[in-house]
Amino acid sequence: MSIINNNKTDPNKILPMTYLWARQHYKDGVANNWTPEEIPMQDDIEQWKNPRALSPQERKLILWNLGFFSTAESLTANNIVLAVYNHVTNPECRQYLLRQAYEEAIHTDTFIYCCDSLGLDPEEIYTMYLNIPSIKDKDEFVVELTKSVFEPGFNTIGNHNIQKFVHDLVGYYVIMEGIFFYAGFAMMLALKRQRKMTGIGQQFEYIMRDESLHLAFGADLINTIVAENPVIWTPDFKADLVDLIKKAVHLEKAYAYDACPEGILGINPRQFADYVEYIADRRLERIGLPKVYETENPFPWMSTAIDLPKEKNFFETRVTEYQVGGLSWD
Ligand code: FE
Ligand code: MN
Repeated sequence: MSIINNNKTDPNKILPMTYLWARQHYKDGVANNWTPEEIPMQDDIEQWKNPRALSPQERKLILWNLGFFSTAESLTANNIVLAVYNHVTNPECRQYLLRQAYEEAIHTDTFIYCCDSLGLDPEEIYTMYLNIPSIKDKDEFVVELTKSVFEPGFNTIGNHNIQKFVHDLVGYYVIMEGIFFYAGFAMMLALKRQRKMTGIGQQFEYIMRDESLHLAFGADLINTIVAENPVIWTPDFKADLVDLIKKAVHLEKAYAYDACPEGILGINPRQFADYVEYIADRRLERIGLPKVYETENPFPWMSTAIDLPKEKNFFETRVTEYQVGGLSWD
């Protein structure tokens, strides 16, 4: 049995299953089901329209994070559908990939919903990935390092090609979804903790919960490919991956300093930079690579936000169940 390059795999025959972790991630994804319309935006709209409710720095931070995520979600979705799905023919993994693709559609929809409800200029938001250097740099970095799997005729036969494919998986799952999303998550959740833009904050919380599953699936996929093809896991290849992650941390820190100017009450860019290092160490460990930073987590509340199966909504009056069947915002 092997997860890629297995000519005995019938993509249409899902039972019996070989990779039960893929099935588990699928079920966990379904249990997290949500749609953006479930979250009321009225308070956000009022704050956004009130010139005194948010400072110019806070507005910038919100716009930049909406700008980064609005297009990053599509980049991720394209990679799943056009690259990963093509080469991972194992049916239980494909079932998960279809689920993930749907969740990316929900995330894309979330940013449409945010733009619509706040009355933002789509031309501004959806061109930030071209016009704002620290956003552009992140997107270009991922696109560049995953380019080879998009070349016509690319296949995963042979150790060199398997390495290229693992490069792609590290690029999207570990770096894009696992590092480049996290300074933004922390910024929007830090604002939410101050009761600022709590609707968008809750949307980001739900997206983060989905993304932590995407990352878990991606890491399991990478680890399985490596376990089944141990010859690709050379010291050079590992050093190459660590190097990419270090470059990604550098870009994400630059983004954090850029998107989060000094002067926002209780929020300072240095903490986001530390958080990025902390997160990067967790990602390295998850795929069997050595830690680089040994930085302490400046935001212990972030892990609570990811892990909690339920949480109080922002009125703090009732507990909102995350699980399907318990959703009630009425
Ligand atoms: Fe997403
Ligand atoms: Mn994702």
